[in-house]
Amino acid sequence: MICSVVRCYLAFVNSDSMHEFSLALNILEITEEAVKANHVTIVNELVLDVGVFSGVEISALESALDSIKQGTILEKSKISINIIPGIAICNHCKQQFAPEDTYSACPNCNNFGMEIKAGSELKVRTIVAE
Ligand SMILES: [Zn+2]
Repeated sequence: MICSVVRCYLAFVNSDSMHEFSLALNILEITEEAVKANHVTIVNELVLDVGVFSGVEISALESALDSIKQGTILEKSKISINIIPGIAICNHCKQQFAPEDTYSACPNCNNFGMEIKAGSELKVRTIVAE
């Protein structure tokens, strides 16, 4: 346990990815709560949805999860990250499209302004446990 705390601390001070680190802790917390609520003890797999506009760097999140999982319920879990592409609806012509970023123009009418429908999420999609 002490080891894992030290590792966490080192990962925290040495990395630029404090954002991903706190997300990883949050994911662990969500998983622990779900496991408790469902009376299971082993998490075999964790599937995360990470949208392309979520601002999460996948590799930073993966290494953050790696650094916190020792001694936790996620220690032996396979962690899969599902990348969710961006989908938006144009505020002007109502056409649905896949923007490259959150300030793209609509490919149909070339106007700016859209409602993001998918791609900004970060969530725990599935917890496979027993
Ligand atoms: Zn449009």
